[in-house]
Amino acid sequence: MSMEEFNMQIYSCSRCRLWQGAKHGVPGEGPLNAKVMLVGQNPGADEDELGRPFVGRAGRFLTKMLTEHGIKREDLFITNIVKHVSPQNRKPFTDEVAACLPYLTAQISFIKPKIIVLLGASAKEAPRVEGIEYIQIIHPSAAMRFTNMREKFRLQIADLSKRIQQTSK
Ligand code: URA
Repeated sequence: MSMEEFNMQIYSCSRCRLWQGAKHGVPGEGPLNAKVMLVGQNPGADEDELGRPFVGRAGRFLTKMLTEHGIKREDLFITNIVKHVSPQNRKPFTDEVAACLPYLTAQISFIKPKIIVLLGASAKEAPRVEGIEYIQIIHPSAAMRFTNMREKFRLQIADLSKRIQQTSK
């Protein structure tokens, strides 16, 4: 199956209730041979509108931080644990995460990243695959809002940048 065909499944997915309030499924984007995969929680309103991950305020902040540390956003595969927006941007429920996880599992086995960056607590639900290094960092929305977290986030991105340079695909 091609990635386009795979993404079609997400666009028309009704495995949980979230599709009902969404404009677009947001499968994720990036090179299919990416060394690094970024996993967030689920799309927000801007992402739902455009059908692309991390394009709202938190996304712009994330992209800026990555760029400042020499990481090109376009080199990464960026996705989320859950592929649809949630009402009032609430945390996805356990059954919604469970229904959506097979998509992430498939994306991981297709892309075979060397590093998976888990953004925030919800991303901890990502399936663990042997041979992949998992790096847990603060979610950019939290880093954007709280000064102390912002500084920690900056250090985490600096460490990530070093780790990416040390890792070959
Ligand atoms: N927050 C997320 O966790 N994912 C997005 O795609 C956007 C904001």
